[in-house]
Amino acid sequence: DVPKRSLWQRIKDVVRTDVSVLFKGVDEGSLEALETLLIESDFGVPTSLALVAEVERRHKRGDVKSESEFRQALADGVEAALRKGNSDPALRTNPGGPTVVLVIGVNGAGKTTFIGKLSAAFRAEGKRVLLGAADTFRAGAIDQLRVWSERAGVDFVGGAPGSDPASVAFDAVDAGVTRGVDVIIVDTAGRLHTSDDLMTELRKIHRVIGKRLPDAPHEILLVLDGTIGQNALSQARTFSAAVPVTGIVVTKLDGTAKGGIVVAVHEALDVPIKFVGLGEQIGDLEPFDAGDYARELVE
Ligand code: GDP
Repeated sequence: DVPKRSLWQRIKDVVRTDVSVLFKGVDEGSLEALETLLIESDFGVPTSLALVAEVERRHKRGDVKSESEFRQALADGVEAALRKGNSDPALRTNPGGPTVVLVIGVNGAGKTTFIGKLSAAFRAEGKRVLLGAADTFRAGAIDQLRVWSERAGVDFVGGAPGSDPASVAFDAVDAGVTRGVDVIIVDTAGRLHTSDDLMTELRKIHRVIGKRLPDAPHEILLVLDGTIGQNALSQARTFSAAVPVTGIVVTKLDGTAKGGIVVAVHEALDVPIKFVGLGEQIGDLEPFDAGDYARELVE
């Protein structure tokens, strides 16, 4: 489980070093240093302030007398933030037919890779999966998804390059329903001429899927690159203004020690984190667990 270890190790190195240096007794200077460290780790200002306030509150109560209590206070604060509000990481499923998962996010965020990993995970559970390639805008996107579908051993429906993405999405859902698959995953474009065009297209895809299968899509997963810092927040806001995002996937956490963006995005959108991406291989997908995440962050 190397990618996971390297992620947590990196975060741990940053936090642990600083926590032990910080913990010469909790005073104003060390709390300020902690706040800076958290902001640098992409927790965002509001969350960083709240975490520091939690450490301070416990310290005043006499509950932060050691480094381990200091870490515990931090972990509890992170876990509480991740469990606040809409935070159930379980994938929504459709008990009466195929579950439709719509996957959105900008180019390069790791959408295609995530879809490949998710397909493989469903396959491992014995589920029948169909991928729909509704990114007809970018040359190569359809082929790339087809390659992943072959690798994962799942069905594939793709239109011609330049064809209407919403009709590809419709056809994919239609084919999935007709063939009786368990899961239909629809890929979408990550860039069009303008952001407005992209959001209009996503709304149309969303609407058309619901026309073919009422209550679908059951999940709208927004894929965000965990290495782009606070830009992930503005992307999250733009996408969730266009369609009702039901879950967040944060990728490339193996490549950064700044795991705080996971907390910042959950808090900003009030949407659960459902997966984190920890590598480029088909097995490098982790279902999200707030408690594990928080503990390993400061262990
Ligand atoms: P898309 O444009 O959103 O479909 O993005 P891709 O799936 O093509 O991914 C863009 C790049 O990021 C590729 O080089 C992927 O191998 C890489 N990538 C995707 N997810 C991860 C991850 O969790 N960790 C790492 N290190 N790289 C990733």
